[in-house]
Amino acid sequence: MIPERMKAAVYKGNQTIEVEDYPTPVVGPGDVLLEVSHCGVCGSDIHFVLEGWSPPNKVHGHEFSGTVVKVGDAVTAWKIGDAVVGGPTVRCGECEYCRAGRPNLCSGRGAVSGGDWQGAFADYMRVPEAELLRLPDGLTLREAALTEPLTVALHGITLAKVAPGERVLITGGGPIGALSAAALIHRGITDVVVSEPSSVRRALCERLGATVVEPGELTTPSMPDQIVPEPFHAALECSGHALAMEQCLGQLARTGRLVLVGAGIKPPRFDPNRIILNELVITGAFCYDAGGFERALEMLAAPDFPTDVLIEPVDVGLHELRDAIGRLGAGEVPAKVMVAPTQKVRNDG
Ligand SMILES: [Zn+2]
Ligand SMILES: [Zn+2]
Repeated sequence: MIPERMKAAVYKGNQTIEVEDYPTPVVGPGDVLLEVSHCGVCGSDIHFVLEGWSPPNKVHGHEFSGTVVKVGDAVTAWKIGDAVVGGPTVRCGECEYCRAGRPNLCSGRGAVSGGDWQGAFADYMRVPEAELLRLPDGLTLREAALTEPLTVALHGITLAKVAPGERVLITGGGPIGALSAAALIHRGITDVVVSEPSSVRRALCERLGATVVEPGELTTPSMPDQIVPEPFHAALECSGHALAMEQCLGQLARTGRLVLVGAGIKPPRFDPNRIILNELVITGAFCYDAGGFERALEMLAAPDFPTDVLIEPVDVGLHELRDAIGRLGAGEVPAKVMVAPTQKVRNDG
């Protein structure tokens, strides 16, 4: 029996989250109801809560996996008991970007936290049937909750156009930076350097096989046509910090590519002459490649992909979410924090 009310971690504004009694979502004809298994805490969740990017009275959480517990009358793809992960929202399929194979840029796209959308920091979640993917064999629901952030990392790598034998710099060794390093190394790009101020995050990136540096070690040559002695072919900026964006540009080889993956408020100051004289390319990375979720699931299910290193060993309950966000914001937690709403009776009872 599915209860009529459930627990949800609600952002109340003013940096607070409260676990509230919430109505269990009602499914429409084309929806399924998931019992949430795991939901990762994203960098955007940290901005929502600590910096007030979110309106109050929202339930966030978009990096989820779960089990189908109810299906709408018109649902054909799923049945009760199926293990699934959240995929990309459905796109128009008709605009110039969709037709060009770049559905992430669809003219009709909306914000993830818009409207009456309720996220997965809750016992149950309603999802349109077309926005789910099946787990490959051998992948647990807990591991599968890494799918969305890995898809984000893969999109950055795609836009960086990294070729075999190239050197890649990653600034910011949080979950997206670490997933980017793991994905590059898994694909045989072994010369990966991660710049990160937090020692626990540097240690995690080293475990993944990356070389690590402290941000202060990255200096930009004073003349715009000068290149550092060991330059990078591509840089993935995953911290959102203006200084790191500027440092990335200063570390690139001629024709180097800088991909901005992490979002920040403070704008960087780029030297246009460095960009001109070395023909550098700067691009942003928003969301996902077309087909990116399928590739991320395949990578996660590979036996040698280090999911155990990338997920914090202890899951948190809904009541512990606010505390976890604080520790993540302070850079104290190296890996992806997984919220396990229904498994934490001990804490949420
Ligand atoms: Zn995310
Ligand atoms: Zn479109």
